[in-house]
Amino acid sequence: MWPMVLYDPDSHISLQDYGILIPVAPDRSARVFSELAGRLAKRGLSRDRWAIEPPPVELTREDILRAHSPGFVERLYGDGLEQVMLEAFELIDDEGRPHRYAPETATRPMTDLLATVLQWTARSYQAGVEALSNTGKFCYHLGGGAHHGHAAFGHGFCVVNDIVVAIRKLQAEHAVRTAWVIDIDAHKGDGTAALAAGDDSIQTLSIHMASGWPLDLPPTGADGQPHPSFTPSDYDIPIATGEEGEYLSRLETGLAALGTHSRPDIAYVVGGVDPYEHDGLPSTQGLRLTIEQLTERDRLTFDFLHDRGIPQAWLMAGGYGERAWEPYVPSIEYAVLRSLGQLAG
Ligand SMILES: [Zn+2]
Repeated sequence: MWPMVLYDPDSHISLQDYGILIPVAPDRSARVFSELAGRLAKRGLSRDRWAIEPPPVELTREDILRAHSPGFVERLYGDGLEQVMLEAFELIDDEGRPHRYAPETATRPMTDLLATVLQWTARSYQAGVEALSNTGKFCYHLGGGAHHGHAAFGHGFCVVNDIVVAIRKLQAEHAVRTAWVIDIDAHKGDGTAALAAGDDSIQTLSIHMASGWPLDLPPTGADGQPHPSFTPSDYDIPIATGEEGEYLSRLETGLAALGTHSRPDIAYVVGGVDPYEHDGLPSTQGLRLTIEQLTERDRLTFDFLHDRGIPQAWLMAGGYGERAWEPYVPSIEYAVLRSLGQLAG
């Protein structure tokens, strides 16, 4: 069996339905899927060779509690849900006014978002199951990657940290013991780093913008404690504006350092394309990679894991504006072809 790309139209989060004005194109996943299908068809590969017909999957509260605090889970499943969503998507500014938010245009209540978030999270878990069981040891979930989700709160458009929930569920089921998280999104994987801190079974690497969100948050929270966004990953690779030319070599060095650890049972890759020079989120302007650099970034990462025989589950993470679909397509095409044994390394 070779299913490798998991696309579930029902788990796609259309933020516009809730009046949320964050520039994620509502057809981002669908566009990637259809462009990919076109390119693979030209190589004689019909969808049944690579696309997964997603089977039903559901997560329980217990699954969420493996990464999140009881208080947060209580709010999520109870009366606090709307407030959790307003915070996670940062829809109210410091003066209490709507920010990137037009509630009067919403066609669905904010509370509907929970079912979609949980479905998204479930699919990220399923991508791990597929990567562990399919012959190519690779699965790309066209969704997921909520790496800013913390134990007790969501922020940065992330509610539930699907990465850590997925890994801990696989661990609870004894499907894996150890995992790596390789985070190549433009933003630091702060939630994942904080959730995995002190957990020797999960090694984290994050290559990201050296400054800007979330690294420009106040260093201490309202409670006087250090803000958890500053929790270091096991390997942090900050890239300053103007250092784009060093990005690939520094990623390679970071991966080589990660590779000195014993081989994990699975790797999750948080494959955000928001470092793209044509990304539509103003706060990602600090890192501007070309499509060629992004394609090379993803090949390096894929090959690093593939050559070591490490099952890899990829998540879409950040990628904003009308052109965000572009860098995903050549990267996923390459990974599918290599997994099928149709390309030499
Ligand atoms: Zn991002």
